[in-house]
Amino acid sequence: MEFIPYALPLIEDEEIKAVIDTLHSNWLSKGPKTVEFEKQFKEYVQSEHALGLNSCTAGLHIAQLAAGIGQGDEVITTPYTFVASANTIIHTGATPVFVDIDPVTMNIDPKKIEEKITEKTKAIIPVHFAGYPCDMDPIMELAKKHNLIVIEDAAHAVYTKYKGKMIGSIGDFTCFSFYATKNLVTGEGGMVTTHNEEWADKMRVMSLHGMSKAAWNRYSDKGTWYYEVEYPGFKYNMTDMQAALGLVQLSKLESMQKRREEIAQKYNEAFSQIDGLTIPFSNEENVHAWHLYVLRLKENGFTIDRAQFIEELKEKKVGTSVHFIPVPMQPYYKQLGYKVEDYPNALAAFNGAISLPLYPKMTDEQVNHVIAAVSELAQTFKK
Ligand SMILES: *Cc1c(COP(=O)(O)O)cnc(C)c1O
Repeated sequence: MEFIPYALPLIEDEEIKAVIDTLHSNWLSKGPKTVEFEKQFKEYVQSEHALGLNSCTAGLHIAQLAAGIGQGDEVITTPYTFVASANTIIHTGATPVFVDIDPVTMNIDPKKIEEKITEKTKAIIPVHFAGYPCDMDPIMELAKKHNLIVIEDAAHAVYTKYKGKMIGSIGDFTCFSFYATKNLVTGEGGMVTTHNEEWADKMRVMSLHGMSKAAWNRYSDKGTWYYEVEYPGFKYNMTDMQAALGLVQLSKLESMQKRREEIAQKYNEAFSQIDGLTIPFSNEENVHAWHLYVLRLKENGFTIDRAQFIEELKEKKVGTSVHFIPVPMQPYYKQLGYKVEDYPNALAAFNGAISLPLYPKMTDEQVNHVIAAVSELAQTFKK
């Protein structure tokens, strides 16, 4: 058995042809393909507006800026996320305020949010961890009660549904990632959706140097050389090469997701039988996008720790990753005074978490190999 990486994209002839066609079209930067991808994506997630970007991180940044967040404000998020969720709060000049996770879903615990709301709180950034949705009803209620903006970090949540509603249709803003390891890939790329036209227009301007609307077509026969800068914006736009990939990926998302679900199901069946392991939470009420399969080793379940378990898996040719190192553990955040001990559920989750390989390209043989490897190690190192 060859080494099984923990994540791989599914790029087929159709994607390759789409990118080559784009190269022949001479539109390399933002152009008609980006506009088409935005249109199809907003219809897919049932939002009024969508803006293609070069990353989810860019989306998180300009969504906060469009909502008027800045110096002196506080923004609530989860410590159990990729650093981009918190870094972008810092970029606006605001202060991240972490709220510990629910130990079962590993998402921000809505019951713990209100006690962290102050006069300075402006927004909540919930992160749909691994593709399982946050409990959005109480979060939206709290936001309404305290006049807060909700910006969803949906980097894992293309395809996720919360109580029948698409992620992308619920909060004030939703930010998606099409990074190379995500469920829908464009290499690098992202999309931000919103129902609010004013915010959508603001973000469009911010994402392209602050240049006035529709500046992207200034080199075509429909464009004009004249533009005005209304704001010192960023260079955050998507390109047509990325959009060409994204359009093909979106058209096959359903079938890719079916395969993810199939694999997750097989893992669940196998690992729920083994003492010392906790399988990821999922239920009938919500649609899980299965971006990640995060298996957890119970505390004191084994004679080896998580780091050693990962080394043993590597020996058996199984690639893994860890999602996530809690943000307050990072040197930059420690130096700001954050302490991971203040978020015991996030710390406990981190100590046991192993992300197993999960992607549509995996063969049944590879899936069975991962199951055999984990089962064998669990047996060998049982306490
Ligand atoms: C991947 C990821 C991001 C960043 O996405 P980019 O498109 O790489 O900017 C943000 N938040 C979470 C939770 C992620 O996993």
